[in-house]
Amino acid sequence: MSKPTIVQCPQCKVDVIWSAEESPFRPFCSKQCQMIDFGEWADEENAIAGAPDMSDSDGWSEDQY
Ligand SMILES: [Zn+2]
Repeated sequence: MSKPTIVQCPQCKVDVIWSAEESPFRPFCSKQCQMIDFGEWADEENAIAGAPDMSDSDGWSEDQY
C-alpha cells in the first residue's frame, strides 16, 4: 500500500518517480535534463548550444522574402 513519491523534473516538469530503480537521475527525469541543469550554472557566461532559449531568435523568424 505504499504510494510512490512523485516529484517534478526541474527541467521539463514531467512527473518523476522517486525511486532509485525507476529514476536514477532524480529529481531529473533523465540524464539529459540533469546535464542541461548542470550546464546552466556551470556554463553561465557562455552561450548554450542547443538550449531552448528565446533570446537568440530575432532575425530568423520571417526570412522568406
Ligand atoms: Zn526532464
